[in-house]
Amino acid sequence: MHYLSTRGESAQRSFDEILLEGLAPDGGLYLPAHYPRLGSDELRRLQAMPYADLAFEILRPYTHPLDAATLRALVHATYTAQAFGSADIVRIKPIDAHISLLGVSEGPTLAFKDMAMQLLGRLFEHALAQSGHELNILGATSGDTGSAAEYAMRGRRGIRVFMLSPFGKMSAFQTAQMYSLNDANIHNIAVQDVFDTCQDMVKAVSGDLDFKRRHHIGTINSINWARVVAQVVYYFAGYLRTVQRIGEPVSFAVPSGNFGNILAAHVAKQMGLPIHKLVLATNENNVLDEFFRTGVYRPRSPAQTHHTSSPSMDISKASNFERYVFDLLGRDAARTRALFTRDLGEKGYFDLSQDPAFARMQAEIVSGSSDHALRLKTIRAVWDHSGVMIDPHTADGVAVARDHLEHDVPMLVVETALPAKFSDTIQEAIGQTPPRPPATQDLEQRPQRFVVMPADVEALKDYIAEHTMGHG
Ligand SMILES: *Cc1c(COP(=O)(O)O)cnc(C)c1O
Repeated sequence: MHYLSTRGESAQRSFDEILLEGLAPDGGLYLPAHYPRLGSDELRRLQAMPYADLAFEILRPYTHPLDAATLRALVHATYTAQAFGSADIVRIKPIDAHISLLGVSEGPTLAFKDMAMQLLGRLFEHALAQSGHELNILGATSGDTGSAAEYAMRGRRGIRVFMLSPFGKMSAFQTAQMYSLNDANIHNIAVQDVFDTCQDMVKAVSGDLDFKRRHHIGTINSINWARVVAQVVYYFAGYLRTVQRIGEPVSFAVPSGNFGNILAAHVAKQMGLPIHKLVLATNENNVLDEFFRTGVYRPRSPAQTHHTSSPSMDISKASNFERYVFDLLGRDAARTRALFTRDLGEKGYFDLSQDPAFARMQAEIVSGSSDHALRLKTIRAVWDHSGVMIDPHTADGVAVARDHLEHDVPMLVVETALPAKFSDTIQEAIGQTPPRPPATQDLEQRPQRFVVMPADVEALKDYIAEHTMGHG
C-alpha cells in the first residue's frame, strides 16, 4: 500500500514515510491509494477475535513496510486490559431498545483519543529507534488532545513533548491530568493567554523552518493518518459485536469536531463494513451539519466559534474534512485542490449542492446539531431512563441519533469521553457528581509540574532549545 496526497502530489509515499508527517508538501492530506475490501467470510473470521488481533488484521494492509511480527507485538502491547479497563477494550452499553453506546473512552485519559494515540506512541518509538532520529512534539491543547498525547508519549525513548495550554483555563480535572505527569520527557507549558494564542505560538515556531529542522520539531494533530486508521478498528469491533449475522445493517452516530472520528467510520464502510447510515452530530459550532444539510462548506473564523459545554467539538473548520471530499469527488485531486485553495481562499466557502456528489453524500452521512439546553436534557433523560451517565459530547451524539432512528437498524453512538471529565455540566444536568475511575481518584491532589510562560515566541524557542540541546 502506498499513500498519495488529496491535492495530487505524485510522489508515492510509504507508511513509514508519512507516519511522522503532517501535511503533504503540496498542502494536501495523505490517503492510502485504495481501501482494501473485506468480504463476508473475512468479516465472519474477524468476529471472534480479541481486539488486538482485530487491530492487527485491519491495520496490516496499511502499515507496510512495518513487518507483521512487529505490528502484532505493538498492537498487543497497546490494547491491554490494564490500559483500557477490560479485556474487551471497547464496550457496548445499551441505553434503550434502539440505541447503544460504543464505549471507546476507557483508556488512561477517559476520551476516545487514547484508542489511537496509545498505539501512535509505540509506532513512533519504534520508527525513531529504526531511524536513529529523535522527535520533539510541539502542540497546543485546550484539554483532551494534549493529555492523550502526553499519556501516549510519556517515558518513550527518542520523544519529548512540549505541550502549550492556556494557563488557568482548563477544568481542574484536565489540568491535573496533564500537569501531574512527572516524566522527564513531558514538558507542560502554561501560557498566560488563551488557547488560540497557544496555537499561534506553535504555528510561529513550526513556521521557522530552520529552527524546526535543527530541533526535530514535529506535531501529532488530528490529520495524522495513523490516528485515523487506528480508529477504523473500533467501528469493526462495534459492528461485529452488535450483529447476529454478518450483513445486517448497523448505523453509527459520531459526535464530531475535526472530522477524524467519523472519517474512520467512512473508511470502515469503504472497506466493506455493512454500515447503514453515519449520523454526524455537532454542537453549536455547526459548520459540518450545515454542509451535510445544504452542500455548502463555510469555515468560521475563531471569533465566530462558540465556547460550548461540549468543548472538544468547538471547531471553526474541520481539519480532516478534505479527505472525505476527495473520496466524495471520486478522488479528483485537481477539483479538491481548487475547492480548498481557490474557493475557500477567494470566497470563503464552496458549494456542492448542484453536484451529483451531493446525493451520494446524503446517502452515506446525515447530520444534526445540538445545543446546551438539548445536551442537558439528553443527559437527564438517558440517566432517568437507563441509569447510564453520559458526557456532554456523547449527549450531542445521542440527541442527534434520536432524529435518525430507523426501524430494525441498531444505532451505536460513539461515546467520545466519560462524564468524569466534565463534572460541572453533569452536575448542572442531574445534580450529581460523576463517578471517577479508580486511577483518577486523587488526581487533583497530586503534585503538579509545569512552567508558566508569557505569550512570547522567543521565550518558547529558548525553552525548547535549552531542553533539547546536547541530545542530537
Ligand atoms: C476530539 C473529540 C471529539 C471530536 O472528534 P473529531 O475526531 O475531531 O471529530 C468529540 N468528543 C470528544 C470528547 C473529543 O475529545
